[in-house]
Amino acid sequence: MTYTVTKVRKEYAIDRSHRHIEGVITSAGVHYTRREVVDSMNAGNTWKTSHAGASATIRPMNYCPRGSCLAAPYIKTNPDSTGKDNLENLPEG
Ligand SMILES: [Zn+2]
Repeated sequence: MTYTVTKVRKEYAIDRSHRHIEGVITSAGVHYTRREVVDSMNAGNTWKTSHAGASATIRPMNYCPRGSCLAAPYIKTNPDSTGKDNLENLPEG
């Protein structure tokens, strides 16, 4: 199954040095945490972003890429994704 992500939800890191992705919201309006997305990927499902006609595949990461942040697991889009379909740049919901 393929899930289409149209919005992200962000939260402050524990030390409040930055905000990072807490979870995503799909085109069906359903919220999933990072952990739920990664568990779903590990079960064989595909997760993609969709925004302004552009799309990118979401991939798992071990940790948030910011500094020494230990938020885990984390999720990102392909390195070659353009700005508007990048997970970090989706509208917040
Ligand atoms: Zn972080």
